[in-house]
Amino acid sequence: MTNKSIPRVVIVGSGFAGLTAARRIARLPVHVTVVDRKNHHTFQPLLYQVATAGLSPGEIAAPIRWILRSHSNVQVLLEEVLDFNLEQKKVLTKEQVLDYDFLIIASGATHAYFGHEEWEPLAPGLKTIEDALEIRRRVLLACWPSNWPNVGTSVGTSIRTSIRIRPRMANPDPRYSLRSSEADPPASNSRERWLRSRVTH
Ligand SMILES: Cc1cc2nc3c(=O)[nH]c(=O)nc-3n(C[C@H](O)[C@H](O)[C@H](O)COP(=O)(O)OP(=O)(O)OC[C@H]3O[C@@H](n4cnc5c(N)ncnc54)[C@H](O)[C@@H]3O)c2cc1C
Repeated sequence: MTNKSIPRVVIVGSGFAGLTAARRIARLPVHVTVVDRKNHHTFQPLLYQVATAGLSPGEIAAPIRWILRSHSNVQVLLEEVLDFNLEQKKVLTKEQVLDYDFLIIASGATHAYFGHEEWEPLAPGLKTIEDALEIRRRVLLACWPSNWPNVGTSVGTSIRTSIRIRPRMANPDPRYSLRSSEADPPASNSRERWLRSRVTH
């Protein structure tokens, strides 16, 4: 139970921002409620490693409750926030209404297609474990996809580099390796012929 004289802080989101805020604010005499629709924090910078089968999802995700376990004044709720009533200082989730004295919204950002939502099925975003697994599924199935994930220059480059240095995704025989300087396959070549021409012994 929360003592009513103790300020109530609600933090929406448990990414880098939400967790940092929770850890710092938990040092104060407050009651903190962290709300996230996922039960785990995702280390986003390594999502591309999951997308390219270099890491498993469990290696870049950890339960939020576990991360914040040492803070006795922090409560973690697995809930989706739907709306806010700023005048009455309430957070509306699917299941309940949370009262707060202080509110921190750290719900992250999403990818943009600059008005071209039709691009999304071909160039999926990379923000969650689910996104990474979907990209991994497509990469492993296609071996060398022509529809490359369009998630920003640095992330796209990370994925491309990671796959280039992962020859076993293209050929399970470890004696083979792909030359790292090669660009995408020419559209006119068949995938198999292109891969064969790029493989070195
Ligand atoms: C693939 C990739 C690679 C990156 N590489 C780097 C890098 O090398 N260096 C670097 O500095 N940065 C990098 N970034 C950026 C960095 O990871 C992000 O800026 C950072 O993780 C954002 O943190 P955040 O807390 O703002 O949001 P997020 O981590 O997105 O957290 C938002 C949280 O809010 C929750 N949430 C959202 N909406 C709701 C709702 N309605 N109800 C309940 N919960 C909700 C989500 O479930 C999520 O847990 C990378 C990002 C990506 C995607």
